Amino acid sequence: MTTTTQGSSRQPLEVIKVHEMILEAFESRDKAYAPYSNFHVGAALLCADGTIVGGCNVENASYGAGICAERTAIPKAISMGHRSFLACAVTSQLAEPSVSPCGICRQVLREFLPLNTPIFMLSSTYLDSHSAKGSAPKALAECLEDYMQGLSLREREAKVNKEYGRLIRVMSLEELLPLSFGPEHLAMPR
Ligand SMILES: [Zn+2]
Repeated sequence: MTTTTQGSSRQPLEVIKVHEMILEAFESRDKAYAPYSNFHVGAALLCADGTIVGGCNVENASYGAGICAERTAIPKAISMGHRSFLACAVTSQLAEPSVSPCGICRQVLREFLPLNTPIFMLSSTYLDSHSAKGSAPKALAECLEDYMQGLSLREREAKVNKEYGRLIRVMSLEELLPLSFGPEHLAMPR
């Protein structure tokens, strides 16, 4: 291994559940309250028991009071009693898989998601390629297979010209937030 991606510890995920989580992220995106930025974002969490919890960005006339989709989904899930999560999805209206959780959201995710949790970033065109529930698109299956095989981020990015690279990007939380600070640091002797 050439990276710190914890490849061997990646948890197996059902493609169909990941697809359902992604569809929830899109449904949540379409509920975004974003009259100021007009930038609609949806997120969804796959909980350990299979429950899927979505969230959208909710802006405010006092701009600083606005909240991102990921930080809508996390407190929603926690308040429903979920504490263990298998994956997260984020999408926007952009036709490329380039919208990732912002810095604050990465830290909030870090509080609850293990570092090896996959974060899926979706192009809006993912829906065009396949929107039906009940069967997952081939692109997602290929993307997940590369990730689960333990390919490093660099190896996966080299495959970005594959069809799925235009629709989906997946990174572990640790890849998104290296050398992160978490609850375990507060428990260290000092
Ligand atoms: Zn954010």
